[in-house]
Amino acid sequence: MYCRNCGNEINNNADVCLNCGVKTGNGDLFCPNCGKETNPNADFCVNCGMQLKNLAVNGKSKVAAGILGILLGGLGIHRMYLGYVGIGILQLFLSIFTCGISSLWGFIEGILILCGSGITTDSDGNPLI
Ligand SMILES: [Zn+2]
Ligand SMILES: [Zn+2]
Repeated sequence: MYCRNCGNEINNNADVCLNCGVKTGNGDLFCPNCGKETNPNADFCVNCGMQLKNLAVNGKSKVAAGILGILLGGLGIHRMYLGYVGIGILQLFLSIFTCGISSLWGFIEGILILCGSGITTDSDGNPLI
């Protein structure tokens, strides 16, 4: 496996690239399979055919996350849905302590997600679809 950020060869079990310190799977400059440079927007590696973006498999729904944020933002449900569990729990507790005032935070995040700004990836760095 190669680092997607710097193209350095890394151990298949490694969590971070020892060369650049970026979490494995993050970055879009090199193919993880053959180590060739790739176009950041490419869906497949033109050298080996490796799928670089698995949107259909891992991509979480932008609409679902946005609606969850608007309806249940105060409970942090949209954050937990996207894998940001820590922030989700923080939003939940903040809403309890502020009697719901801080639920505006999640509500606004929900609107921003629907508009395509704010949170645009899940906690693994997969773009929302
Ligand atoms: Zn690296
Ligand atoms: Zn490749």
